[in-house]
Order: sequence, then structure tokens, then C-alpha cells
Amino acid sequence: MSTFQAPKGTYDLIPPVSATFLAVREAIAAPLKNSGYGYVETPGFENVELFARGVGESTDIVSKEMYAFETKGGDKLALRPEGTASVLRAALEANLHKAGNLPVKLWYSGSYYRYERPQKGRYRHFSQVGAEAIGVEDPALDAELIILADQAYRSLGLRNFRILLNSLGDKECRPVYREALQGFLRGLDLDEETRRRIEINPLRVLDDKRADVQKQLVGAPMLHDYLCDACKAYHEEVRELLTVQGVAFEDDEKLVRGLDYYTRTTFEFVHDGLGAQSAVGGGGRYDGLSEMLGGPALPSVGWALGVDRTVLALEAEGVELDIPPATSVYAIPLGEEARRKLFGVVTELRAAGVATDFAFGGRGLKGAMKSANRSGARYTLVAGERDLEEGVAQLKDMESGEQTAIALDTLVAEVTRRLG
Ligand code: ATP
Ligand code: MG
Repeated sequence: MSTFQAPKGTYDLIPPVSATFLAVREAIAAPLKNSGYGYVETPGFENVELFARGVGESTDIVSKEMYAFETKGGDKLALRPEGTASVLRAALEANLHKAGNLPVKLWYSGSYYRYERPQKGRYRHFSQVGAEAIGVEDPALDAELIILADQAYRSLGLRNFRILLNSLGDKECRPVYREALQGFLRGLDLDEETRRRIEINPLRVLDDKRADVQKQLVGAPMLHDYLCDACKAYHEEVRELLTVQGVAFEDDEKLVRGLDYYTRTTFEFVHDGLGAQSAVGGGGRYDGLSEMLGGPALPSVGWALGVDRTVLALEAEGVELDIPPATSVYAIPLGEEARRKLFGVVTELRAAGVATDFAFGGRGLKGAMKSANRSGARYTLVAGERDLEEGVAQLKDMESGEQTAIALDTLVAEVTRRLG
């Protein structure tokens, strides 16, 4: 071990587990790519004000968890704690919404940073794949996103997850509810910080994980009873669309989510094998965010799925992804001349699209065969001096054990044929 270790709350992705992470990212992205979402990549840091305004000053993410810093040039920046504010900022900046093709549908994949208390499933650096559909108010769009996440998890083989669904109302009905809730909360026995939260963001108090708080919340006014007709109808339509598509969900009146920008539809994907960190993904509608960022009214909806927790969920369910071995052919030269010759063959095989690796360092056959086995290669290609004199190399099928001498000038064709 070296003197350096990964910082607290972070970890490295190394083979073979890193292959699972790549596969999970790909599995989440696949349904999005298949549904009109284009790839977007934004910087790892932004003007701190973007998150303060976009995510909300009173949220844990901004007030406690953000890596904010000032540069030598005096810029106030923050490592991105989440994706939506950045993606919307990028879309507005590039005027994507003016190109006339609404919704603007974007997907992303990247690292996010939150200064949290590290524990299993909760890290300071983590990975999300997310999607945003910007500029359209249509229950089918909310349903689409929920269905795509559901498909992604199912394609990975996950089964023990649930979809929690709620509506947070809009700028008509939410303020009325907010006041009713504040009235109720002010009468409870709560600590100083929570009391402050009642005034700034009372809905978040419903999200409090502490049992003694939850006990007092019994009988709190529920948003459900305050939704205006438009919000009710919208929510019913989302539910109906999901039901017709056979996507099971649970109504969860207490699902408020930790970010300020949500309106109407909110949802969370929870996995029952993960203990306290049960949310594998979440999202919702954010109809007011664009205006909060100084843009035009652009009702939008999106989600972000946590890659780290999805990998943990796979482990919890005992799902092994079917990841094909990275290497198809492992070439082993015996002797100096064979090394030169076979290295050329390796380059040719690679150029022909065959995943090929090579025994470097002039090790003996035994050690090299061990590496070949470890690589998972279907074939080994061994050549010594006598083989080369005859213009051949020995191609061994690692599954059947069968070995054949193949003429070097037909080798690429033969290997590609065999690999189908
Ligand atoms: P939690 O309630 O567990 O703190 P959250 O509501 O803060 O989650 P979101 O902001 O909705 O999470 O992020 C979407 C997803 O990203 C989460 O469902 C989770 O899978 C993942 N995620 C969020 N924070 C972390 C973290 N610190 N470490 C690992 N994954 C995370
Ligand atoms: Mg959180």
C-alpha cells in the first residue's frame, strides 16, 4: 500500500468491479438513447449561485453538503452536487429551447460531489446517470421518464425495487398548503433547526427521518387534500398512463424530495435491500426552475439514478451481470523473434476488431498461460521458433482445449470466423 489513500467518503473503481459500473451506466443510458434523449456534458463545477438559486438555499444539499470554494481569481464556484440545474443552465445558454423542438430531451452521466457523512451507499463523490425533458407540460412525458427508469432497472435484472409517486402541487395550490402545514408544524415540539425549517421550507420537515419527529407528524395536513383541480387531473393522468403500461407504483403522500425546485410529479425508486440508503434514484417535475434561473417559463421533468447504489442493489439481489470477457485472444510469444512477429499479428487482430492481449515481458509459457486464463480469453495464440519456421501459430480453444496450427497469413480471417 502506498502512503496515499483515496479521500474520506470516496473510493476507486478498479477491475473487475469497474466493468459492472460501466455496464450499469450503459444499461441506464440505453432506454434514453432509444427514446430521443441526446447526450449532454456540463462542467464538474459551476458558479455557486446556480445551485444556491436552482437547488435552494435552505436545502441540505446547498446549506450543508456543497463543496463551495473561491478561486485565486475570486470566482465563487462549487463542485456540482446534482445535475438538473447545470443541464438546464446549459440548455438555456445554448438556446436549445428556441430551436423549436420541444421538449428538449437530454441525458447525462457523471460524477457528483456532496459533503456528507460517509456510510454504505452514501459517499462524497458518487456517480449518476440522469435525464431531463425540458419545455413541455404533458403527463405522458412524466410517465415516459418513469417508465424508462423502470426499464433500465429491469434490464439489469433488478426486481426488488419500488416506485414511490406523489404530486407536490403547483404555484396555485402549494402556497395554500404550505401555510396550512406551517400552522400545524408550529404547534409541535421541535428543535431550533427544524423550527427554522418550518419557516423556510416546511415541506422538508415531512421528510425528517427521525422517529420522534415522524411520530409528531401524524395528523399533519397532507398536500393531497390541497391539490387544485389542474394538479389533480394532471396527477391522475400520470398514474393512469403508468397503470396502463403495467408499471406498478405506490402513492406516497410524504414524498417531498430534498430539492426546492420540484412541482407536481415527484417520484423515487427505492430498493428494499439497501438499508437506510434505500433510494436508488429519484426525480420529478420542475416547472418553475427555468424562471428561477432567469430563463423563460419552461415546464420540465427529469430524474437522476445513482450508479453506486444501483450496483449495491445488484449485489443485494445477487444479480451477476453478464459481462463478456474483455479479451478474446491472448497471444504468447516464445522467444525474441516470435515476440516481434506475434506483436504484428496482435496489432492486425486488433485492427480487425478482435479484442486481443499480449504476454509482455518475455515470461515463460506457464506464467503467460496463467495470465491468459485470467484474461478470460476464448483463444490463446502461441508461437515459438519452430512454428514461425513453418509459418504458423498454435491457436488453442480454451473451452474445448483443442489446438490447431494456423497459417499466419490466414490467421486474422480464421480467428474472426471462429469468433463469429
Ligand atoms: P438521499 O435521500 O439518500 O440523501 P437524495 O434525495 O439526496 O438521496 P438525489 O439528490 O435525488 O438523492 O439524487 C439521486 C440519486 O443519487 C439518489 O437516489 C441516490 O441513488 C444517489 N445519491 C445521492 N446522494 C448520494 C451519495 N451521497 N452517495 C451515493 N449516491 C447518492
Ligand atoms: Mg441526500
